[in-house]
Amino acid sequence: MAYSKNTRIYLLIILAAGWIITLTLQQLFLEEKLYRQTRVLMGTFFEVISADERAGKIVFDEVLRLEQLLSKYKEDSEISRLNRSGKITASPDTFYIIKRAKELALKTGGAFDITVAPLVDLWGFTERNFSVPDSQMIKEKLALVGSDKIILRGKNNVVEFMFSGMKIDLGGIAKGYALDRAAQKLKENNIKNCLINAGGQVYALGKRSGRKWRVSIRPVRKDKKADIFELSGQSAATSGGYEQFFLKDGQSYCHIINPKTGYPVKSGVVSVTIIDDSGLSSDALSTAIFVLGENGINMLKNKFSKAKFYITKD
Ligand code: FAD
Ligand code: MG
Repeated sequence: MAYSKNTRIYLLIILAAGWIITLTLQQLFLEEKLYRQTRVLMGTFFEVISADERAGKIVFDEVLRLEQLLSKYKEDSEISRLNRSGKITASPDTFYIIKRAKELALKTGGAFDITVAPLVDLWGFTERNFSVPDSQMIKEKLALVGSDKIILRGKNNVVEFMFSGMKIDLGGIAKGYALDRAAQKLKENNIKNCLINAGGQVYALGKRSGRKWRVSIRPVRKDKKADIFELSGQSAATSGGYEQFFLKDGQSYCHIINPKTGYPVKSGVVSVTIIDDSGLSSDALSTAIFVLGENGINMLKNKFSKAKFYITKD
């Protein structure tokens, strides 16, 4: 059948309009069915949302594998063995995360530092057996802090502490790394879209029904509206002092320690949210900015050019 040029253009417009309407109707009414699976891992609640039912098991298996290597709460993990003996031959994952943590300590001017572990223990955050230590004890533990005191030998994956008594704590970085690794496992299994929530830190793989995942971060103050972020191929991590803290003599002490002073952070910041391409860096960076306070954003934004920073103050 022969059509005039104008008729062809009209037909194309009608076809295109039909396509757009179909897409919109599909997005409105035919959102794909999502499976929501949950499990407690790494001391927190993991939630996996995907149209592919296999996603939950793939994520949970990977996170469990990493928890067994990286948890200081498990006696036989590589981190516990390192903390006891001061030297290990590490698996590739453990070696990689310690190497990245050392780099991040350097990049954040020491605000993020996994060697704060002896101080996290001293203040009672590991055993939930809180106390305010005397300043001499804090001084002694501070002498063990500094990621430059961790020696890495890449040839045989050896990790060694320079001083006895040193310890590391991956609480500010390992959940983020686990999210990156879990997302990688999903991709290897041809799952392109999934949202993983690791106790408040999320990783958004791909999209939901063709659009970015919409994630709301619960506000600290009940009178504030939740922040909504649209994410795809990104992670959002929040650090704050409002969930894990103890009160003593009217003072509040939170679980994030300033590696320079040895005291729980009081930076005037209530919470920090970082959005970045990697879970590992958004996790560590949110802790670092919480330590540094608002000025930390100016200090670090050029070094982390893809990261977006959101801060809530008192
Ligand atoms: P973030 O701000 O991301 O990290 C804060 C944490 O980092 C602190 O709690 C401390 O551990 C560490 N830290 C403090 N100051 C600094 C600093 N200046 N620089 C670097 N790090 C710092 N909890 C349990 O109760 N039971 C468990 O069995 C358990 N298992 C875990 C296993 C793994 C592998 C990991 C990573 C954590 C585990 N946790 C467990 C800890 C728990 O889930 C923490 O509450 C969590 O890691 C803190 O994360 P966050 O996102 O709230 O805070
Ligand atoms: Mg975190």
